[in-house]
Amino acid sequence: MIKLHDLYFKPFISEEEVDATVQRLVDEIANDLQDEIPVFVGILNGSFMFVSDFVKKYPKPCEVTFIKLASYEGLKSTEDIHRLIGLTQDLSGRKVVILEDIIDSGNTLKEVHRIFENENVDELKIATLFYKPEAYKKDFKLHYVGIEIPNKFIVGYGLDYNGLGRDLPAIYQLKTTQHMTNLVLFGPPGAGKGTQANFLKEKYNLVHISTGDVFRFNIKNKTALGMLAKSFMDKGELVPDQVTIDLLNAEVEKNTGANGFIFDGFPRTNAQAEALDHLMDSKDSQINAMIALEVDDEVLVGRLLERGKTSGRKDDADESIIRNRITEYYKKTAILKDYYAAQDKYFGVDGVGSIEDITERLNKVIDKL
Ligand code: AMP
Repeated sequence: MIKLHDLYFKPFISEEEVDATVQRLVDEIANDLQDEIPVFVGILNGSFMFVSDFVKKYPKPCEVTFIKLASYEGLKSTEDIHRLIGLTQDLSGRKVVILEDIIDSGNTLKEVHRIFENENVDELKIATLFYKPEAYKKDFKLHYVGIEIPNKFIVGYGLDYNGLGRDLPAIYQLKTTQHMTNLVLFGPPGAGKGTQANFLKEKYNLVHISTGDVFRFNIKNKTALGMLAKSFMDKGELVPDQVTIDLLNAEVEKNTGANGFIFDGFPRTNAQAEALDHLMDSKDSQINAMIALEVDDEVLVGRLLERGKTSGRKDDADESIIRNRITEYYKKTAILKDYYAAQDKYFGVDGVGSIEDITERLNKVIDKL
């Protein structure tokens, strides 16, 4: 994900796909023009990268020139096309191919046809790398089309948002949902995730979802889900993935419009981590960081036995169940450190000390994200 001025954009079309599309257009056009020496006319500014790659790939002699038109203001394509640089050479009798980076409303194309009205060229053809059929309002024929895209604002590979983004080698699409900060709070049982999540949600205005709390709520209310989860929880085992993933999805859906989430106790397996990535993706978002509270096992056992005196939690009352929960963590959950570390999203934080000190350590990590 990238930010240009005030807006966020997500990856849309890769560099490789753009390159293959340019090559296909080159092949089609070279095949049609055979031994004619064409004049390729790029429409500045957006087409500079396309034209450059196109003529480098073009297998036969050709000429290149540019005209400069301006139509976009911010995100809007305006009717009002300014001709900043017109044609600077005589093209009568020549085969001309216009190279456009993108055709949406067709307003620029109308101006191009006006420019060529009295030029007496032998042939005028239009090639465009990207085409938005839903936005196109004109009848001019498009002879060569690279990739049809939905009517969404894109940047990269020559295309800009208020001047930024032209230098990106791939194409990015405007994110229409608001930017969220999503944190996974990680660590073994008793590490202090719940306590810290309560501070973080206030400070960063995030929604805190603890799968353990949701299961306990269901158990208290004697729902079918609660009864199912109880059989696993009482032994300190993990509830099956699909049950937990469905529950997590439902909790996220209840909070559309959230500023972001703190996931506490989820994900606990690889399958859950992948499901979470998919869910975030469907929301045009992502996990920004996994922050792990690191605490020694013996400190954890001591903390949980202490909590068990008042929490009323069956799984906090018995040392062997506590140890089983810690074992489950190392067997099934600790591997997720690698999952997030591979994406440069893992941040370990010392979870021993006063609650305020640990909160301070967490704030430092989050403020740097
Ligand atoms: P916690 O409150 O996070 O310590 O979770 C208490 C218990 O709820 C765990 O020992 C599991 O039995 C169950 N549980 C909570 N979150 C998950 C999860 N993500 N996957 C599987 N089981 C979970």
